[in-house]
Amino acid sequence: MDYRAPKGTKDVLPAESHKWQYIEREARAVTKAFGYKEIRTPVFEHTELFLRGVGDTTDIVQKEMYTFEDKKGRSITLKPEGTAGVARAFLESGLVSAPQPIKMYYLNCPVFRYEQPQSGRLREHHQFGIEAFGAKEPSVDAEIIALAMALFKRLGVTELALHINSIGCPECRPAYNQKLREYFEAQKAMLCPVCNDRLEKNPLRILDCKEDRCQAIAKGAPLMLNNLCPECETHFDGLKEFLGAAGLNYEIDPFIVRGLDYYTKTVFEIVSQYAGAQGTVCGGGRYDGLLEQLGGPKMCGIGFGMGMERLLMVMEGQGVSAGEGYSPDLFLIAVGENAKRRAFEICMELRESGVSVEVDHCARSVKAQMKFADKLSARHTAVIGDDELASGKLRIRDMKTGEHSECGLSSDEIANALLST
Ligand code: ATP
Ligand code: MG
Repeated sequence: MDYRAPKGTKDVLPAESHKWQYIEREARAVTKAFGYKEIRTPVFEHTELFLRGVGDTTDIVQKEMYTFEDKKGRSITLKPEGTAGVARAFLESGLVSAPQPIKMYYLNCPVFRYEQPQSGRLREHHQFGIEAFGAKEPSVDAEIIALAMALFKRLGVTELALHINSIGCPECRPAYNQKLREYFEAQKAMLCPVCNDRLEKNPLRILDCKEDRCQAIAKGAPLMLNNLCPECETHFDGLKEFLGAAGLNYEIDPFIVRGLDYYTKTVFEIVSQYAGAQGTVCGGGRYDGLLEQLGGPKMCGIGFGMGMERLLMVMEGQGVSAGEGYSPDLFLIAVGENAKRRAFEICMELRESGVSVEVDHCARSVKAQMKFADKLSARHTAVIGDDELASGKLRIRDMKTGEHSECGLSSDEIANALLST
């Protein structure tokens, strides 16, 4: 059988899983400091959720979803982003009536998109994400951006640029859309076929088209930022003020529209030259219309998604350490059947008290066990054979310094000896 993984997927192998765990630890520490609690939702949802919650004019819905029928003929889709599932769970669980805002995060959330794999672009990737429902003040917009930046800071990631924009609201966007439509209508023949379709349904998305010809035309288009209603204007000013209060620098990029249809007001992206072809490590924004769109109450929300593979790429690109892999505190080298049994017992006792210990499971010779202990980067080794059993003494060798220390055979004595070498 062909044991290559499906195109666009990536294993996390034992030698690199500590990097993920490191990011996870830091992300949990940051979310705790900011008061966000974890939410976990299913890997698949009813397709309709994404049609409504992501928007049927988006690339994700039009081209990228992994959709299939289950055995009862229901249309099911693997999560193509994290927000819709969280919004669904939020509505279904009645969290709507809890004190607001409800501040949540998800971590390691698998996300599936049928895209052309390339550097930083996979068919299954994983996201760390934030969702906050029920807060309309721009301080929460600044808070989630500050949270993302705080994580980068903890991880030692620098050279990032924060780009912000406002894409208005149902108050001001229709008139702006009309202006956009008129602008693009005049150059319709030069737009790509997809954008011709967008022209009718959602002209804003033309600004986000990756085709060169469309981008060239989009450069001269009227900007939402110059057409905001007073409320959106005030909100955007507030965002800038609170970002300032958080000590964050930003650039205003009037061309950010983001991939989803239900964004309102704030949108932002955090970019790095090390994040592959696209450069975006983290993207998010406000979606004040989403819950209502899903059949819930009128309640605002804001969030972001951060690609964890891209985050790792950035860390690797910058040469930032992603923590150390696991190596045992002690490798107990057993010689002879009696010693093997005793070594196993000691090993179990030590593990119970939190010491990481390895023993051989492959009938290796003493020499081969030594070698293996070295391969595992064990910090200490100790040989246990008939002599040690008779004397009740163990010589512990510090593998770095080569020094020895002696102790009794009880797990307490060994644990102490490990601490003092
Ligand atoms: P892009 O412009 O790169 O396609 P996007 O706007 O589609 O990104 P979002 O939907 O905002 O991305 O997802 C949030 C984050 O998830 C991105 O900033 C990126 O870090 C990551 N991401 C998105 N798609 C992929 C992918 N196919 N492979 C790996 N990471 C991805
Ligand atoms: Mg995309």
